[in-house]
Amino acid sequence: MQTRPDEAHEETGGIRNYKMLVGGEWVDARSEKTFESVNPYTGRVWATAPEAGEEDVDRAVRAAREAFDEGPWGKMTGTERARLLRRLAELIAENADLIARVESTDNGKLIKEMGGQMKALPEWYYYFAGAADKIHGETIPSDKPNFLLYTRREPIGVVGAIVPWNSPVLLLTWKLAPALAAGCTVVAKPAEQTPASVLEFAGLFEEAGFPPGVFNVVTGDGPTAGRALVRHPGVDKVAFTGSTQTGIAVMKDAADHLAKVSLELGGKSPQIVFDDADLEASNNGVVAGIFAAAGQTCMAGSRLFVQQKAHDELVGRLSERAEAIKLGDPFGTETEMGPVAFKEHLEKVQDAIRAGQDEGAELICGGNRPEAPELRDGYFIEPTIFTGVDNGMRIAREEIFGPVLSVIPFEDEEELIEQANGTRFGLAAGVWTKDIRRAHRVAHALRAGTVWVNSYRTVSFNAPFGGYKMSGLGRENGLESVNEYTQVKSVWVELSGQTRDPFVLG
Ligand code: NAD
Repeated sequence: MQTRPDEAHEETGGIRNYKMLVGGEWVDARSEKTFESVNPYTGRVWATAPEAGEEDVDRAVRAAREAFDEGPWGKMTGTERARLLRRLAELIAENADLIARVESTDNGKLIKEMGGQMKALPEWYYYFAGAADKIHGETIPSDKPNFLLYTRREPIGVVGAIVPWNSPVLLLTWKLAPALAAGCTVVAKPAEQTPASVLEFAGLFEEAGFPPGVFNVVTGDGPTAGRALVRHPGVDKVAFTGSTQTGIAVMKDAADHLAKVSLELGGKSPQIVFDDADLEASNNGVVAGIFAAAGQTCMAGSRLFVQQKAHDELVGRLSERAEAIKLGDPFGTETEMGPVAFKEHLEKVQDAIRAGQDEGAELICGGNRPEAPELRDGYFIEPTIFTGVDNGMRIAREEIFGPVLSVIPFEDEEELIEQANGTRFGLAAGVWTKDIRRAHRVAHALRAGTVWVNSYRTVSFNAPFGGYKMSGLGRENGLESVNEYTQVKSVWVELSGQTRDPFVLG
């Protein structure tokens, strides 16, 4: 594997020992404790990272605060910040392969998916570089005579960015690119299962020309390092991606010091196939929605609603395709599904499958660990399909975050909308139909932050993404996301020079 010299790690006995980036320096935890990261394909430890405690988080937040308040970053214009963001984008493009390989090793995602993701990543930084010098307030006609009234859109300050293990660098980018464009500084904390790719990525900042402390990374677990970051009074904004349960805890902790919060949380997204849909396209889209990335994506289309007439044919096609999915080495060019990211997660997915069987859903495909000897060390689970699912069953209610599809038949549009919305989540949805009126009608009726029509799992730097209901708060991507990292100041300037009655407001 290609490595960048003098950067985030050194190697001993075939294991990479990473350091954290704090205030422009690569450091160990003050306690010198580390934790191990396991390659989910081999089941073996491949890297270690520092186990940050409260003291380390405090050091990183102070570094970010100093860079914001006192360093050159706070004085830079949007145009200058844009220049650095563009340079970072160039360096990401040069190192895309390296970051993709590290992330695939850490979380088991296919190299072909990671490679595509990392090649697209620079676009986020170019897009937000374009925004950096267009973040402005407005002049408001004053209702009082003799006043100039205008607003300024100012960076919110220090951002704590916490991401999960399924796409660490991409999900960090959704926070980092608008935050840097706005002029904030950032302390990132990747998940304890996958610390490596964010640390490799952090190695690009110095070369791109960012002043020390603008971007910092602490590694460690959620209850200690993550919680310390959220609770730190020096953090002005918490940008979090993870489970709904943790998101609620994060919001409560952030409330103690009134930090602004954005949350990208879980989902139980419906894929809706009407009788008139192109069944080949919808079959492909449903497979992409639940079996790509082994179902470990927040936007997984895990509930499939199929209209009665199309039901049997679509289910037949789906199970045929699911059974043909090639499980294997995430680095294999032929591989279509890798392992899930870690052992406890595999157990969680298996538990959900057992619950589906216990509740009486019909398991028509998968459900087990594959028997092939070359897959025994990895955390593999077969692509799994349940039919005859009721929307009230646990497999239809709870996020599984694995390759498990629940098929629910429906008869008419009205009943469909009620069932599709009958979930506490509201992240995404897919609608498959050739009827253009129905497509828009249903897209408008669904309570979800993103609806795809005759497509699934398409995202972009310029399309706002986020959840309704328990799937989140705030939006990432698109110009709108810059507002998450800014606050507005109103400036009143008296123009007449006259004194006013001090006991009258206005
Ligand atoms: P998780 O909530 O357990 O962990 C996510 C991150 O939060 C990790 O970095 C973890 O260390 C940290 N964390 C844990 N407890 C914390 C605490 N008390 N305070 C601060 N930080 C804490 O999530 P997970 O189960 O590992 O990740 C999968 C979840 O992420 C799924 O629910 C999935 O839907 C969601 N997700 C959402 C999106 C989205 O954009 N909506 C994208 C990807 C994943």
